[in-house]
Amino acid sequence: MAALHTDPVTAPFSEGWSEPGADPVLILGGGLIGLAIAHQLARRGKSVLVLSRRRSEAAGFVAAGMLAPHAEGLGGPLLDLGQRSLGLIPEWVAQIEADSGLSCGLRPCGIVVPFATAAERDAYPTAGFGLALDRAGLEREVAGIGPTWRAGLLFSQDGQIDNRRQLMRALERACVALGVRFQEGSEVLELLQAAGQLEGVRLCRADGNETTLPVRRAVLACGSWSARLLPGLHVRPIKGQMLSLQGPRQALRRVLFGPGTYLVPRDDGLLVVGATSEPEAAFAAGLTPLGQSQLQRGLASLLPEAAHWPPMERWWGFRPGTPDGLPLLGASAITGLWLATGHYRNGVLLAAISATLIANLIEGGDAADAALLAPFNWKRFGPRAGSDQETMAAGLAALSAGV
Ligand SMILES: Cc1cc2nc3c(=O)[nH]c(=O)nc-3n(C[C@H](O)[C@H](O)[C@H](O)COP(=O)(O)OP(=O)(O)OC[C@H]3O[C@@H](n4cnc5c(N)ncnc54)[C@H](O)[C@@H]3O)c2cc1C
Repeated sequence: MAALHTDPVTAPFSEGWSEPGADPVLILGGGLIGLAIAHQLARRGKSVLVLSRRRSEAAGFVAAGMLAPHAEGLGGPLLDLGQRSLGLIPEWVAQIEADSGLSCGLRPCGIVVPFATAAERDAYPTAGFGLALDRAGLEREVAGIGPTWRAGLLFSQDGQIDNRRQLMRALERACVALGVRFQEGSEVLELLQAAGQLEGVRLCRADGNETTLPVRRAVLACGSWSARLLPGLHVRPIKGQMLSLQGPRQALRRVLFGPGTYLVPRDDGLLVVGATSEPEAAFAAGLTPLGQSQLQRGLASLLPEAAHWPPMERWWGFRPGTPDGLPLLGASAITGLWLATGHYRNGVLLAAISATLIANLIEGGDAADAALLAPFNWKRFGPRAGSDQETMAAGLAALSAGV
């Protein structure tokens, strides 16, 4: 384990960031996925430095924190990955809580998905994993649910975690406690490679100075911004707006996952209402009247009484989307650079398994991991998804066109 530094968040590079011979790993991006990987590597005794442009812009501080592979109706390899991650989460959270001394706010509270008709309910892709509810069952699980909803599915295995107020902070604290070094305010500008091997990164430090950092092993975990460093990568932002209200404690016991709007009740009665999905917004910052009124309408339909609860906060962020909604996990076209990005709307759910799989890969990996990771390989988008100039141009054009 690396020695604890007195101020790991602001330590200058000139002090060095790894023990001699420690074979360090650089994490590009200090959002949820970067932190989860840094934590896992530090637990395995690796020397780790996290370069983070701005922690506050991370989707990890934006998300609703649903752990919802079944309620989201996932399928195929994504459902499999999500279920595996869900299974890892209790132990993963216990590790973070032990390392940080902070609670992560995990609530295995179950999620209810409401439908207008029983036929819609029965056609839901993950219906076989849930308990079918009629109107009476819905009212039992969600007191005060709106009259439109006549049927439902209860996924008692799904749940939530308070990523915004608890998990992110606990992960940061756990990393620091294990000796992970942070350079907050450092923007990676370029990946440096020679003959296909990662050789380092060029970056702009918090003081505005540019510098290069030699490194042969790094993980690209820049979320929605990942394609700026590897423009051939098929990752683009899908903006989401959120709001929260203060409800009475226990007013809503389950997460309520409606079409277009969901309600996530925290332990203290805070109700998180999400989320818009705005691919056309690209990286446009800020709230919009249209987005916020969409959330208010969804709230009034799902739980009419909550429309009168006092408003608390409004915020937005960017989901790292991919064309097929699956993350990009595993080796890249550059030796020594691993991809951990494109987690779209399931990054909180998938953080635990992403951290484990990427840490395993950096340590060599095995055949079982390779099989699990195969559907998430960047090559699935075709031969153009490399790092050559033509692909970069195409990637940038697609990004700016909002494709
Ligand atoms: C509105 C909304 C609701 C969501 N709800 C859920 C949910 O309920 N359940 C769920 O599982 N998931 C949810 N998600 C998805 C989840 O938040 C993301 O998938 C996840 O946070 C992605 O993590 P990340 O680390 O890849 O990216 P981020 O958390 O966005 O972190 C990326 C970090 O990289 C940094 N960075 C970028 N470029 C550079 C650079 N060049 N140099 C240095 N640093 C850089 C950024 O500053 C940022 O801090 C939601 C997302 C949104 C936006």
